[in-house]
Amino acid sequence: MQPPAFSDQGLHVMSKPIGPICNLDCEYCYYLHKEDLYPSGQGWRMGDETLEAYVAQYIDAQPAGASEITFAWQGGEPTLLGVEFFERIVALQRRYAPRGKRIVNSLQTNGVLLDEAWCRFFREHDFLIGISIDGPAELHDRYRYDKKGRGTFAAVLEGLKLLKTHQVQFNVLTVVNRHNGDHGRRVYSYLRDCGAEFIQFIPIVEPRGVGRHAETGDAPMVGSDPLDGIVSSRSVRPEQFGRFLIDVFDEWSKRDIGRVFVQVFDQALSAWMGIEPSLCIFRKQCGRALAIEHNGDLYSCDHFVEPDYLLGNIRDLPIVEMANSPRQEAFARDKETSLPQYCLDCDVRFACNGGCPKNRFIETPAGEPGLNYLCKGYRKFFAHIDRLMREMVVEVKAGRPAANVMQRARGKQPIAAPMQRTQNVGRSRPAAPPGRNDLCPCGSGRKYKKCCLSARNG
Ligand code: SF4
Ligand code: SF4
Repeated sequence: MQPPAFSDQGLHVMSKPIGPICNLDCEYCYYLHKEDLYPSGQGWRMGDETLEAYVAQYIDAQPAGASEITFAWQGGEPTLLGVEFFERIVALQRRYAPRGKRIVNSLQTNGVLLDEAWCRFFREHDFLIGISIDGPAELHDRYRYDKKGRGTFAAVLEGLKLLKTHQVQFNVLTVVNRHNGDHGRRVYSYLRDCGAEFIQFIPIVEPRGVGRHAETGDAPMVGSDPLDGIVSSRSVRPEQFGRFLIDVFDEWSKRDIGRVFVQVFDQALSAWMGIEPSLCIFRKQCGRALAIEHNGDLYSCDHFVEPDYLLGNIRDLPIVEMANSPRQEAFARDKETSLPQYCLDCDVRFACNGGCPKNRFIETPAGEPGLNYLCKGYRKFFAHIDRLMREMVVEVKAGRPAANVMQRARGKQPIAAPMQRTQNVGRSRPAAPPGRNDLCPCGSGRKYKKCCLSARNG
């Protein structure tokens, strides 16, 4: 299937209506220091005119065929803006949404300020809440603390309980760092037992000297990994990240397929099915996930909120024009064209595609720059899941649930005869993409056209 033209692809913007302002002081936060981008003393709340222009333009920027439009609110901490701010957003969305289009709101929060009023509002307006939890208390509180240095776990758990009491849809975002990185199974089991059904794992990779809590001076050479010298001591090590994902996968594949959705596994299954993953980091090209700051400045990506990647301001240019500009298209293309030869030759490139460019700052074994810091972990993880992914593909293509492989993962049935494969992992090509009316390979039970295909096309 030919990918749609750049300007026809779905468009996603991460909105920062309170800029980087947050009530917490998490040690690894990549956004707190963005305060330096804007003059001190200015207000951080997105003004009424900017907000209205944003809602109208964002709706306008979506492809004509999109039946659903998703707004994503993040920070900093968006709940600092109060419920009334979001009531105004919902009213604006009603005013500007064309007939027949469904508006969906997702909001990422640290969970500390959630109360009855917030939860009633989220439930009433069907918000999807992302809540950040790094595992049980002793793992979560290592880096996620408030301005007085106190751990936040207890408050987050209260917020989570309230969401569940009010039956608000939520997913969990977990940052994988040096501290919780050796505890994949424990972290995953804990989140699952808390009732999480959708989980995202985000690796923390901080080049030394960057960020609010930057580590400077000579790098302590912890252990024997030379990469310790170029990243902070909080950053997950590449192989540690691979092991973390493997531990989670081994637990998930024995008990939870079809019941708990782990984003990176869904993405991998898409790749093994021959469908390009929908998540930008695993796609060949990116550039369709932009970020807007509180004053209307639009940037190429949430991870590139930097002067060189400022596309303009929505009060001067419409979002659609900036998002489809040659400059943004070049940003998107660069992800593919800048891959080192090592990636081009890689057996699992169909699933990895070199990962996110923000993490491509190490050299390949041949000395070529531009390799992803997490490469060793990705290789290890994708190699480990290869066999079971193939088994799942067989099930899904036969119209059966991917969850059928759980018995085999538990070792209670012999593994089916291996699919024909070449010498290398993944090299035997992913399967042909499913038809529009086939079951979606992510295991949701919905048709492909109603699930991942529509997500890909926005
Ligand atoms: S730079 Fe990274 S996070 Fe940003 S859009 Fe590209 S892949 Fe995604
Ligand atoms: S696993 Fe490593 S070599 Fe392979 S595509 Fe990913 S980053 Fe490149």
